[in-house]
Amino acid sequence: MDSASPRAKRPLHIKIFIGLAIGLFAGLIVNFFWGESATLDWLIRNLIAPVGQLFLRIIFMAVIPLIFSALALGVAELGDIRQLGRIGARTLGYTVIVTLISVLIGLFLVNWIQPGTGLSEAERQMLTGSLTVSSVNKTVQSAAEAKSVVQTLLDLIPKNPLADAVGAFDENYRGGGILAVMVFSLFVGLALTLTRSERTETFERFLQGLYDVVMMIIHMGMKLAPLGVACLVFSVVARLGLDVVVILGKFVFVVMAGLLIHLLGVYSLILKYRIKVSPWRFFGRIKEVILTAFSTSSSNVTLPTALRTADQNLGIPRHIGNFVLTLGSTANQNGTALYEGVTVLFLAQFFGVELTLVQQLTVIFAAVLAGIGTAGVPGGSLPVIVLILQSVGVPGEGIGIIFGVDRILDMSRTVINVTGDLTAAMYVARAEGYELELES
Ligand code: ASP
Repeated sequence: MDSASPRAKRPLHIKIFIGLAIGLFAGLIVNFFWGESATLDWLIRNLIAPVGQLFLRIIFMAVIPLIFSALALGVAELGDIRQLGRIGARTLGYTVIVTLISVLIGLFLVNWIQPGTGLSEAERQMLTGSLTVSSVNKTVQSAAEAKSVVQTLLDLIPKNPLADAVGAFDENYRGGGILAVMVFSLFVGLALTLTRSERTETFERFLQGLYDVVMMIIHMGMKLAPLGVACLVFSVVARLGLDVVVILGKFVFVVMAGLLIHLLGVYSLILKYRIKVSPWRFFGRIKEVILTAFSTSSSNVTLPTALRTADQNLGIPRHIGNFVLTLGSTANQNGTALYEGVTVLFLAQFFGVELTLVQQLTVIFAAVLAGIGTAGVPGGSLPVIVLILQSVGVPGEGIGIIFGVDRILDMSRTVINVTGDLTAAMYVARAEGYELELES
């Protein structure tokens, strides 16, 4: 999703950052002098906010085919894992448990610090209008609340996946929606691994083609992101002034704190007590991987560096390193899962949407699954966040609010993702009985 950065051509994330800065400063100035003006209101509603919506809508349009192809292919790959037996099972078990821990850390922090609260009801109304969100729909909320737990669970299995795909972005749709589409995609992936034939291979190649095409659509939408971010941030800041800047600052703090706790706390404990190596020596040896992940924001691009480091600096047997790291670069994304959970709850707080217990559990489930399904590319999380937002009744357009600060958080969560992959490879190698370097 990023462009290359020859000198003449600024990389996309720098342009987005510039868009953020322009939107922010222009918004603050306009808020200071003309905050209450009716003309400003008219301009935002009819011109600036709609321009800001353009790139979001292009990304939205890619969400359903992306989720279908990415999850089905992801499971088809997991199907190959089973052939690898024990190593596969260990990797999968480790991935699910450690991803769950990361999501819970994030959710604990976001519930505790409440970065998204603090707007008054009037400000919220204004904000909803400025994003041209068709009002945070109370009927959806009551509809979702009225459904029993059993019915919610049953609805996860779609009777008609096409109806769920069509209803996925409809606030009044009462079926399983996007989660049901995810479940359907999982089934397709599973069935694909169980029917290996020439014809199903053609189908798998079709899915790969679909996935590539959809990624290109997202890439095209992202070209409009700098302008979009400037307009969206302007629309919000011109109306709400400094309040919203403070709220965004708190959001960045919560994500960073969660990522650091996972990196220095959870990984260190696993390294020291389960793998029995020195965490500090481990971190010292993987410096190059950390820097590559931070500067590229992509687990996939970092994979070659990670493979070399596992082999040369950590002494992980090659067959284990290759397998765990390749799979992990898309399937084991602890930082991403944490980020997705925090962002969804943050935006729910921001829009004043109370999430029921079932909805919070949905977020946890979806974030863990999304940690497995998110592409290891810059901004890979963003379409997935839209999807989870929709599934719990928070307006997907809300993602526009965090777009401006996403890149720095992307760089940071990618570091956690690849460090997590290397830790997973160490764990599997140790569990398989191999001696490792760096014994503590
Ligand atoms: N950039 C992340 C990665 O490649 C994915 C994401 O969370 O956006 O690991």
